[in-house]
Amino acid sequence: MKAPQRYSFLSLVGGALSGHRKWQQAWRSPEPKSHYDVVIVGGGGHGLASAYYLAKNHGIRNVAVIERNWIGGGNSGRNTAVVRSNYLRDTSIRFFDQSLKLYEGLSRELNYNIMLSQRSEVDILLTNTSMRNMRRRALNMNRLGVEFKLLSADEVRKRIPILAPMKNCRLPIVGGSVQQRAGIARHDAIVWGYARGADSFGVDIIQNAKVTAVRRGANGQVSAVETTRGTIGADKVAIATGNENAALGTMVDLSLPLRTFNLQAFVSEPIKPVLDVVVNCPDLGVYLSHSDKGELVIGGATDPEQISYRKGGKVPIFENTVAGLLELIPSFRRLKLLRQWGGALEFAQDGSPIISKTAVKGFYISAGWWGGFKGIPAGGLTFAHLIAKDEPHPLAEKYGLERLSTLNYLLEGGTTVPTG
Ligand SMILES: Cc1cc2nc3c(=O)[nH]c(=O)nc-3n(C[C@H](O)[C@H](O)[C@H](O)COP(=O)(O)OP(=O)(O)OC[C@H]3O[C@@H](n4cnc5c(N)ncnc54)[C@H](O)[C@@H]3O)c2cc1C
Repeated sequence: MKAPQRYSFLSLVGGALSGHRKWQQAWRSPEPKSHYDVVIVGGGGHGLASAYYLAKNHGIRNVAVIERNWIGGGNSGRNTAVVRSNYLRDTSIRFFDQSLKLYEGLSRELNYNIMLSQRSEVDILLTNTSMRNMRRRALNMNRLGVEFKLLSADEVRKRIPILAPMKNCRLPIVGGSVQQRAGIARHDAIVWGYARGADSFGVDIIQNAKVTAVRRGANGQVSAVETTRGTIGADKVAIATGNENAALGTMVDLSLPLRTFNLQAFVSEPIKPVLDVVVNCPDLGVYLSHSDKGELVIGGATDPEQISYRKGGKVPIFENTVAGLLELIPSFRRLKLLRQWGGALEFAQDGSPIISKTAVKGFYISAGWWGGFKGIPAGGLTFAHLIAKDEPHPLAEKYGLERLSTLNYLLEGGTTVPTG
């Protein structure tokens, strides 16, 4: 296997001098082999990170990542790129904080600039209930040694000067909270960085191959996947298909406890810098950040009304989000919106991810990633551990499927809805 080209200041200069004609391909596009030790279905952040850690940490390199479209074409390429670890439960705090730590070292590890900007996330709280819930989070996070602090209303206004003046507020700001290490990272770079890393260890990334069936041997163990590019043998099949995991489960007669809802986001025309933090207001169901290109990236809450695989938007949700945004920052009322899109997010009943073996031997799932961009590094690390060793990684041992049938829930609320 040829070592990947190192990216550096000097290689950039060299590239410029040669008219950028000598760059190596970042990853290969091989023909699928007839058999792999592990086939990972889904070339999003989770699938590719899992392949990377399987090869790097466990030396399992006869691996294919099978993607029906192009890598990163699912939710990993259509999210609002917020990374943070301000969760409520011990398991989630530890898991997502480890993910954030991995993000902090990822550009160096992958030799790929993931454009991590730890500009902090400030939550603006408009009700005492939200304040109380955030206090609960802060106490638990601090107990586990993770920084997160409450802010007074004045401190919130100082950090975000463009907020509506107090006299114009329907709901006055009662306080806030901040995670200093939170921020944004470039979503494509995460996908491409892990793809390049996995490829450098010999992992085959097979694009434009949809998995249409999973075959099982006489003992019930998985033996192959059928794809639109032919049958590929596999000792283990691991699914990380974003919002399609329930459908993949049916291929081995598993009914996975997952539901899928629409979430949308939009961006404004580019403007001069006005926000240097990620702003989140759970009481109004809106969050936003300023992108490197100058656009405001705005997201809302999920559409709770119907289970859906829609990837577009829905007008009432869009209106609610914009109304919330203008209530918070009325000076944005003349801002033009440039683009709008949506994605389908998958939820387990308790809002926590599933990283688990299943009743079908050799069939593993990484699912329920409704806010899972921030979880990609730790998700990949722990899923790889599970696939390689057949036992859960200590960080993810409570994320098994069995918790949902024994009602041993790990309840987590979102941050764009009032937390519980
Ligand atoms: C609008 C929006 C905003 C979001 N904002 C944030 C945020 O700010 N922060 C955050 O942490 N999270 C956010 N998320 C959630 C985040 O994007 C997802 O949790 C994360 O990207 C999931 O990654 P994944 O690798 O599991 O799935 P995906 O990136 O969706 O990858 C799954 C891949 O599987 C492929 N696939 C599916 N079926 C098959 C098949 N049969 N055969 C082969 N391939 C298949 C798909 O094509 C896809 O490429 C947001 C999501 C949306 C929609």
